[in-house]
Amino acid sequence: MKELILLLANEKATIALGHRLAHLCNQRFILYLYGDLGAGKTTFSRGFLQGLGYQGHVKSPTYTLVESYLLAPNPVYHFDLYRLTDPEELEFMGIRDYFDWQAICLVEWPKKGEGILPCADLELYLSYDNNGRQARFVALSTYGEMLLEKLS
Ligand code: ADP
Ligand code: MG
Repeated sequence: MKELILLLANEKATIALGHRLAHLCNQRFILYLYGDLGAGKTTFSRGFLQGLGYQGHVKSPTYTLVESYLLAPNPVYHFDLYRLTDPEELEFMGIRDYFDWQAICLVEWPKKGEGILPCADLELYLSYDNNGRQARFVALSTYGEMLLEKLS
């Protein structure tokens, strides 16, 4: 399955979707999160991290660019590249160390890192839909397709 569209009636549904995806993950992968400010990218990421068992506060990485969650077996790195002015800055951050062989990476505003960021397995496009949100997933790897298969 290459594409999946879901409607999320409220914030709880966005969190629940994050949980569901987290429960399906059993290896490293890269998720790009697209959508306007307030579309729910951080909310989804919060649900995802909680789904993996993280019980602390999930901060938006807007000012820090990345928040690290050293969970087992896969560490999770949550990026928000909104404030990045040049993709080259990612090189100075040591981007390659984050995208290591076992890390799960969630990336808000991936376009800001174009050319330097590794390719995604899965993309999530969040958009406003009446009072709720629409979630559109696009799979870009075999693993991404497998995740969508299980999510549907
Ligand atoms: P982003 O990271 O995309 O800028 P946030 O997750 O920080 O967005 O903020 C999303 C806002 O929208 C929050 O106030 C959240 O409560 C709300 N929200 C999240 N999902 C939904 C939904 N499915 N329907 C309505 N409101 C939502
Ligand atoms: Mg955000």
